[in-house]
Amino acid sequence: MTSTLAPTTPRAQPYAYRRAELAEPDWHRFPGWRDVTADQWRDVQWQRVHCVKNVKQLRELMGDLLDDRFYADLERDQAERATMSMLVPPQMMNTMVPAGAEAGAAYTEAFYADPVRRYMLPVFSDRRGDWSSHPHATRDSLHEHDMWVAEGLTHRYPTKVLAELLPTCPQYCGHCTRMDLVGNSTPTIEKLKLVGRPQDRHDAILDYLRRTPEVRDVVVSGGDVANMPWARLEAFLTSLLEIDNIRDIRLATKALIGLPQHWLQDDVRAGMERVAMTARKRGVSVAIHTHANHANSVTPIVAEASRAMLEAGVRDVRNQGVLLAGVNADAHSLLDLCFGLLDGAQIMPYYFYMCDMIPFSEHWRVSVREAQRLQHDMMGYLPGFATPRIVCDVPYVGKRWVHQIADYDTERGISYWTKNYRTSIEGSEADDRLYEYYDPIHTLPAEGQQWWAEHGNIAAADLRAAEQAVASRRLAALQLG
Ligand code: SF4
Repeated sequence: MTSTLAPTTPRAQPYAYRRAELAEPDWHRFPGWRDVTADQWRDVQWQRVHCVKNVKQLRELMGDLLDDRFYADLERDQAERATMSMLVPPQMMNTMVPAGAEAGAAYTEAFYADPVRRYMLPVFSDRRGDWSSHPHATRDSLHEHDMWVAEGLTHRYPTKVLAELLPTCPQYCGHCTRMDLVGNSTPTIEKLKLVGRPQDRHDAILDYLRRTPEVRDVVVSGGDVANMPWARLEAFLTSLLEIDNIRDIRLATKALIGLPQHWLQDDVRAGMERVAMTARKRGVSVAIHTHANHANSVTPIVAEASRAMLEAGVRDVRNQGVLLAGVNADAHSLLDLCFGLLDGAQIMPYYFYMCDMIPFSEHWRVSVREAQRLQHDMMGYLPGFATPRIVCDVPYVGKRWVHQIADYDTERGISYWTKNYRTSIEGSEADDRLYEYYDPIHTLPAEGQQWWAEHGNIAAADLRAAEQAVASRRLAALQLG
């Protein structure tokens, strides 16, 4: 019997998967690093000492590559808008314009357009001139400090906590959610200071966890744990592993991407091996959560660091990226990143957070509707277990998948969300209300933009009271319906 099926040509897919080989861009293309050796590049101390911390150092590194207008743009941003000070390790600088370009206008344009530059070295002209901040933007947009049960310990979800052990990182991202606390003060943001001595704070955190058996999961964060002396971090983790109720420990470190040399140090690898072995014996999972936003950041040395941690015995290395317009907010960029992580570095794509409503972040943010579209467009390419969820961190609620909205006013860009647990600062009234989240105003239809032009400047408390009245009416309508 002959087949009646005609041979078919494969149909072009909206996303064409191709396995990409990772490559370390050649750092010698930067005039300031012409003589840097491979050994220096692998040396974490060399990387830390040669971070770019100011415009003068950027000029020295770039030589004649960039036009003056870029530096002026950067300086203006530092003076008038930046919520984070400048700190870019060589490893991250080297992922910007990886293929190089002709010095001058061509290089400057390529640098302006570069996705990693856009969030690590933001400039004034990147930001929006109309609504640079949303009227509801706040310094601690997730109200984590309100939920501190010990200094640096946020108890927001019933069974899990966030322990901010230190307020620094080896790199500072322009969009940092914890801009209230993390990093050095900038001309626009005076940072909050942790007041307790580190050891006292860590003891208080451990004490709370010993007294609170319903907590089983601890995100050990900062800042970035890569900035903590290893002996101190290991001592904290060892104490954590002695608490019977703790079953999951997640170490938050963007340094695996920005300064992988840290995680390749012999003492760090050996220390992680000891921690992982103790965890295994006690049936506890220790994982690393890192933060890559673009495929260009995933290089061979990042893959090496990830493998080193898996070999040391951590259960998993997972990525929590941030969805950022101009950086990765299109399905191709997101999928390229996920496949780069998964195929090249055995890093599990886990979440993409919508960029939070901090001051001056509107040019990075996308609407909930756009995030829903992106989630839709990503489905079906990656294995199910490695398909990341795009999540919205709704103030006073917590992470919600973007399709979990209860209601949505697309004209004013207000989405409404419900919750199914109470944070440490709420009572039963929390169960019976809707919580608002706001789309960037420039993404709204003309009527919505007009509404915000008329209402966006009234006192935030009055605006919130009026909006909560609307939310109550919407909730009642939903309950009736
Ligand atoms: S690494 Fe994380 S905590 Fe540190 S600046 Fe970047 S986003 Fe903020």
